Order: sequence, then structure tokens, then C-alpha cells
Amino acid sequence: MRIAGIVQDSIVDGPGLRFTVFVQGCHHACPGCHNPQTHDPLGGTEYPVAELLAKMRSNPLTDGLTLSGGEPFEQSEGCLALAQAAHESGLTVWCYTGSTFEFLRDQGTPAQRSLLREVDVLVDGPFILSERTLCLPWRGSRNQRLICVQQSLDASQVILLK
Ligand code: SF4
Repeated sequence: MRIAGIVQDSIVDGPGLRFTVFVQGCHHACPGCHNPQTHDPLGGTEYPVAELLAKMRSNPLTDGLTLSGGEPFEQSEGCLALAQAAHESGLTVWCYTGSTFEFLRDQGTPAQRSLLREVDVLVDGPFILSERTLCLPWRGSRNQRLICVQQSLDASQVILLK
């Protein structure tokens, strides 16, 4: 995978202590994006998935994996491998995306849909500068939603995390 970086003990990318992978590459180009260095799909560093897995499993206090970016759904296959391994290790999986849940569910590629099915909570939607907020946990703008993916897929409607 090409990644922009990792944080092994994040407390800002979801609940508890999280292993966060910042995926390299994003086509959304949201004005005001805080991570413009992650946009170039050829930037960042090539990192073997197996090494990321070893790092993720090295801390027994870790509660979950968070896929951030960049756009994780632009490297769906690598992210899927990470998410499956996280679940096998008893970790939760959160994922940020500049796309929407509905787009990924209805128009995503097979790989993107497979990744979506492996996510517990999706923080969806682009960062919108005029909607920027520092008051809502785990998101940068008010339009972004915290979606319980499995319940939403089962119910065929968006169910938000309470
Ligand atoms: S989706 Fe995220 S990384 Fe991509 S441009 Fe928007 S805010 Fe930046």
C-alpha cells in the first residue's frame, strides 16, 4: 500500500486507543483540506500490508483500526486486508471517506463495496469549509456523518452512531 503515515496510539480518530493508517492518494480535493500532502497517489511511502499488520498487533491496548487519508477507498484492497485482520484480532474498524455511504454502496466498485462491508463505522462525506466545526467529535465539518455500516446495510437506510 502507499501510505502517508501511521499513528499507533491515536485518541482522536474514533473511540479508545486506535491504530490509524493515513492512506496516500485522494481525488476529492476538498477546499481547506488539512492533509493536502496526502492527495498525490504517487506520494507517500510504499509499505507492505504485512508490516502494517505487525505494527497494529504489537500493542495489546489498541481498541481499533482507523483508516483515514487521503481516501481509503482508493486503495480498497489493501485497506480490506487491514480491516479483515483487525476484526480477526477483535478490533473495531472505523473508516473516513470523502465519498458518501450511498455512493459507495450503490455505485462503488466491487473492491470498494467489499471494504464497506468490513467497516463498522464510516465517517462519510467531503470536508466542507463553510461547515467546519471543532465542536463535533471525530469529524471536521457538520455534513460528515458517523454511520453504523452493518446496521445501515441491513436496514437499507442510514443509521447514525448515537
Ligand atoms: S476527502 Fe479528506 S483527504 Fe481528501 S481532500 Fe477531502 S478532506 Fe482532504
